[in-house]
Amino acid sequence: MRLPVFSSKFTANAVLVVLINLSTIHARTATSEADEAQITDPVEECTAYYYAPVTDALDGFPTIWQPASILSNDTEALNTWSNISQSVPTNIYPHGDIYGDWNDTSYNVAEDPDCWWTKSLCTIPKLSTLPADVASIPEPETMGYGFDDGPNCSHNAFYNYLLEQNQKATMFFIGSNVLDWPYEAMRAIDEGHEICAHTWSHHYMTGFSSEDAFAELYYTIKLVLGITPTCWRPPFGDIDDRIRAIAEGLGLQTIIWQYDSFDWEEQSGNITAAQVFTNYDNFIARAENGTFSTEGSIMLTHELNNFTMQTALTYYPKLKDAFKYLVPVGVALNKTQPYVETNYSLPTFDQYISGTTTTTASSSSNTTSSSTTSKSSSDGLALVRTMDYTLFALTFGILMLAA
Ligand SMILES: [Zn+2]
Repeated sequence: MRLPVFSSKFTANAVLVVLINLSTIHARTATSEADEAQITDPVEECTAYYYAPVTDALDGFPTIWQPASILSNDTEALNTWSNISQSVPTNIYPHGDIYGDWNDTSYNVAEDPDCWWTKSLCTIPKLSTLPADVASIPEPETMGYGFDDGPNCSHNAFYNYLLEQNQKATMFFIGSNVLDWPYEAMRAIDEGHEICAHTWSHHYMTGFSSEDAFAELYYTIKLVLGITPTCWRPPFGDIDDRIRAIAEGLGLQTIIWQYDSFDWEEQSGNITAAQVFTNYDNFIARAENGTFSTEGSIMLTHELNNFTMQTALTYYPKLKDAFKYLVPVGVALNKTQPYVETNYSLPTFDQYISGTTTTTASSSSNTTSSSTTSKSSSDGLALVRTMDYTLFALTFGILMLAA
């Protein structure tokens, strides 16, 4: 996505939500993931609720929906950054600002010295120490199925449908959204979707200083519900070799895309719903004409609003018909350990297409206790619900240092 207005509007709305969230008055009480999943009224779904483990942990995180920086008293984050920063190039400077304003930059697009995707669609870094971005899928006739910007507050109909279809996807979650909608994030993990990071505040990453770009990834990793992702997607695709080096330092594989549905832009009014449908149709036509006969593909789609999710549901049967397989990106890559924590696994591609779409049993527990529990729990999802978030932070700090 490359629409600055999206970022600013979205942030403003989200800040309002957070303010509601953090006030002492809460419009409703959410008691469990299961109860939350039963809500079918999108207005009710999108009403902020109080969740003690999040509220109690807020002091340990940057302000939700604001551009992140390392907290001055966070010695673990500072130490981690100190280690990683040694591998981050200092001769690549921030591009424009974090709102995608590049008017004051004079970047040489033809030479593209920084492999700046936003300008050149470059996915093979100029720095030889960095791995290439994942932009396509090695499995032929396969779509890497995924959605950006969740968890969305009105996603139950969408997740219900995916559950009915036994379809898993890669969910690129925004850290601030996870804190706003923790039960919605839990549901995604519980139902076997793959979780990747999509930054803390959803701004243009190449506009950040290196230290702040690190914070945008670091704090998102730390809070994502008991699991530490090993993949991420830059908002708007805005990445260059400096940002890649920071992500690499945090053990994050960069996932980009080949085609854009532009579903995210419909709400801005810049394009119509019909144009989004045409983009889907064109992608499907390519699948049908053999474009992906030797290598699968990824299209950018969103868990952003009711339109993007409804469109995904409308087109799901058509995508299923056009492609041989629809699988999470990590499954297509045979990445059976998707998180730093080893108590959670993804099926291999062969397992998935044979019908084993999850390899980690989901928990039937729905406790909302914020007390701590043993890290040796066999179920990372139970851990999610019972482990104090402050302990999460400590745990993840240690894990990241070890990674
Ligand atoms: Zn996004």
